[in-house]
Amino acid sequence: MSLPVPIKTFTRLCLLLAFCTPAARAFELLPVQVGSKVWALIGETGPRTAENHGLNNTLGFIETPEGVILIGSGATPAAARLIEQTVAGITETPIRWVITIGAQDHHWLGNSYFSERGALIIALRRTVAAQKAHVADHLQRLKRFAGKEADAVRPVYADRIIDRDEAELKLGGVTLRLIWPGNGHFRGDAVVWLPRQRIVFAGDFVFNDRMLGVQPYSRVTEWRQAFKRIAALEPQVVVPGHGFPGSLDKARRDTGDYLDFLVDRVGKALEDWQELGETTDQLSDAPQFRHLKLYDSWHRRNINRTYLQLEAGPT
Ligand SMILES: [Zn+2]
Repeated sequence: MSLPVPIKTFTRLCLLLAFCTPAARAFELLPVQVGSKVWALIGETGPRTAENHGLNNTLGFIETPEGVILIGSGATPAAARLIEQTVAGITETPIRWVITIGAQDHHWLGNSYFSERGALIIALRRTVAAQKAHVADHLQRLKRFAGKEADAVRPVYADRIIDRDEAELKLGGVTLRLIWPGNGHFRGDAVVWLPRQRIVFAGDFVFNDRMLGVQPYSRVTEWRQAFKRIAALEPQVVVPGHGFPGSLDKARRDTGDYLDFLVDRVGKALEDWQELGETTDQLSDAPQFRHLKLYDSWHRRNINRTYLQLEAGPT
């Protein structure tokens, strides 16, 4: 994939404007075109803050003659407004459908904003079930960093709930598949596959440029399997849940290989009866993944959590 023009433009602008730093400008999503009428919207690749409205993830949209299909609605109505403004900077076509492919706050707690404007919200039953199960926790966590903005959040679930784990949708003449490839980063995570253009919106199954986080609800072994199912689609472009879009090779380097590392190396340590502390120390230096942002905050924790999961066995 060639370097997306918006990135070049953004970089040039920043070179021209010496004061172009995050502190000097309001937070913006960076649009990157990844196909014909298909865009990724890239948020902060570091931690989420009140300034970035919790948008430390990557969303996307597809423009059709009948309306825009948005993938992900952001963590709050303010985040949703910023998403809408970013889309409006690219096309006058209104957002008509919102597909939510995750249950963590940044995937869907902006639904109310789009619902009030008449958009149809679509999700798999499995995703909605996870949203309902975790909404109270996620609202609490949002309040900790987003303050007043979190008070405006009103959970709105999908209008169109799909009972299967894979479904073909035709929206505005565009065919796409909404797929649950298995457990991964969080319960109910799903992907959107555009077969004609071979683009996958991989949600939180793929983290590019920054280290993935093994959360208490993540299932590392199944996540590796799910990654392989996504790779088997042979996408030309992978839009990750966090970070910049890229090739399948890039997704392998930044996510697939790391999942292999965790499962294989920690699994071997367990077979060898190594203790948790010894395993973490032994594997904590992994230079092949040092290029990933947040390596220092996440890598040791990921080894720890993987060890405990593999030791506990399948759940
Ligand atoms: Zn995420």
